[in-house]
Amino acid sequence: MILVHGGAGDVPPESRPAHEAGCLEAVRAGGVVLAGGGSAVEAVCAAVEVLEGLPQYNAGTGCALTRDGRVSLDAAVMDGETMQAGGLACLGAFPHPIRIAQRLLPEKEVLLVGPPAEEWARLQGFAMVPESRLITERVRKTWREVVENGGSGNFAGGTVGAVCRDARGRLAAGTSTGGTMGKTPGRVGDSPLVGAGTYADEHCAISATGEGESFIRACFAGQVAEALADGMEAEAALYSQLERVRDRYEGVGGAIMLTPTGPPMALRTTETMSWAWWSPEGEGSGI
Ligand code: ASP
Repeated sequence: MILVHGGAGDVPPESRPAHEAGCLEAVRAGGVVLAGGGSAVEAVCAAVEVLEGLPQYNAGTGCALTRDGRVSLDAAVMDGETMQAGGLACLGAFPHPIRIAQRLLPEKEVLLVGPPAEEWARLQGFAMVPESRLITERVRKTWREVVENGGSGNFAGGTVGAVCRDARGRLAAGTSTGGTMGKTPGRVGDSPLVGAGTYADEHCAISATGEGESFIRACFAGQVAEALADGMEAEAALYSQLERVRDRYEGVGGAIMLTPTGPPMALRTTETMSWAWWSPEGEGSGI
């Protein structure tokens, strides 16, 4: 089974169908990988790659911008079987950061940031594109509004993520984002941080979205995994941690989760979070 989200936030009603449709497109791409016997990691990356390519989301094409109008991408993937993880932060205009994170999985390092991360990606054969290729009209307009209103670090919505349980029972999770709109250059959110916005082990695979600073301070995904390891019921564990992020760390958001046996879970404390799942038995979506 594969499950994706297209970001927690408050998507206006007229944009909701596109957010839901993109999620379905992504899980179908993940489904092709799974149907062909591919691994959970490969399916997660295939699904996130689709979402990064769609302009309605805040990842790859359509990403949010820093205060000075630049692209600064965060992404990570984690393999719940091997416990390998790969993450990038403050990455320039690479269209598919999730594939770079995947390439980092077998390496000793877990997180690379900024220009040296870009250099490493280039050496691995990934190519940067002009920033203008990733910046959409919609994003430029929102950025202007945020910056002109003196706002910084505005919660953008539209981050993308995927979790998967493959035929061998392996779990994996991945997340990709442009972060918050008008963020301070150098800012890193929860998405590329293991145990905050992305996590997978033998109990669960989790991808979170929302006000990243709150999810980081709450050690969100790690706390959910810990609760599951202690035997807590899955949905209660996930929701109680989202409530904790909201009530104790003053941040709203959402998360998707798969466990070794349970159904797909997509919970939020925001107005909307688009999601979709696929399995050989069927598919579903919502927002
Ligand atoms: N969590 C992301 C971040 O703070 C933003 C989002 O999910 O929309 O970078």
